[in-house]
Amino acid sequence: MTISSKDLLGIKGMAADEIKLFLDTAATFKDVSERDIKKVPTLRGKTVINLFYEASTRTRTSFELAGKRLSADVINISTSTSSVVKGETLLDTARNIEAMKCNIIIIRHPCSGAPEFLSTRLKSAVINAGDGFHEHPTQALLDMFTMREKLGRLDGLTVAIVGDIAHSRVARSNIYGLRTMGAKVRVCGPATMMPSGIENMGVEVYYNMDSAVEGADVIMMLRLQVERQTAGLFPGVREYARFYGLNRARVNCAAKNVLVMHPGPMNRGVEISSDVADSASVILDQVTNGVAVRMAVMFLLSGGTKGEA
Ligand code: ASP
Repeated sequence: MTISSKDLLGIKGMAADEIKLFLDTAATFKDVSERDIKKVPTLRGKTVINLFYEASTRTRTSFELAGKRLSADVINISTSTSSVVKGETLLDTARNIEAMKCNIIIIRHPCSGAPEFLSTRLKSAVINAGDGFHEHPTQALLDMFTMREKLGRLDGLTVAIVGDIAHSRVARSNIYGLRTMGAKVRVCGPATMMPSGIENMGVEVYYNMDSAVEGADVIMMLRLQVERQTAGLFPGVREYARFYGLNRARVNCAAKNVLVMHPGPMNRGVEISSDVADSASVILDQVTNGVAVRMAVMFLLSGGTKGEA
């Protein structure tokens, strides 16, 4: 099986067997990062551009390492030191990059839809590394990979996603993916951070965190997306932490082997206590798995098939 689209723009509309193909292929790449020589020749001669219009630590580094471990040439463009500051448009920047004959453009942008806009205008494969509060498909794939790896399945799991649902591209991509893979999804947060009509995505809505985490197999905590919020969505950080922060007592109400996840960066003492983050979470496993998942994504978009991975 191969991937039907030239791009990875989102998880919405992705079929279950396509999600499974990404996850299975990632599993075959995972051991490359464990080796002494962390490199395979799979994408030798291909050029990958990381074009980030927003801050990033994990995603940008992870894509860079993934490309390099596949032997591609990887170039990072940070817009604060590029001609974007001289007023160049997104399309002009991308077309100029493509004129240098690159194969894959990975884009993070504050505007929802920016990757899709480029995908229809470029021949290169376009990978969405997070667009506004729309989607973050590789985060959802690495989250599902981690759940499947640790719990053995996705089908039938109860996943509680807690925090700033309205502004979270991580929540949206995970909801699409998890629902397609047969998981039950609960979303929880203050009413001011809950998008209206979210029930139509097939999730259960909770405003009380204790009820949301009760019996959950996975608790996924989200950061307050202050950079995307308008003012006044919650009274203060202390109140927020009290009502929607994950602490040991709340973890104890979930399923016995609950997985505690967070896409990072986390704000310790706000949405998650240090105690839980450091001793009862799989946050760093998510980061490790992100490299394997991004290797799989670049490989499959370059026309690879699982058997060759
Ligand atoms: N790193 C994730 C994102 O880019 C989550 C976050 O920033 O809170 O969406």
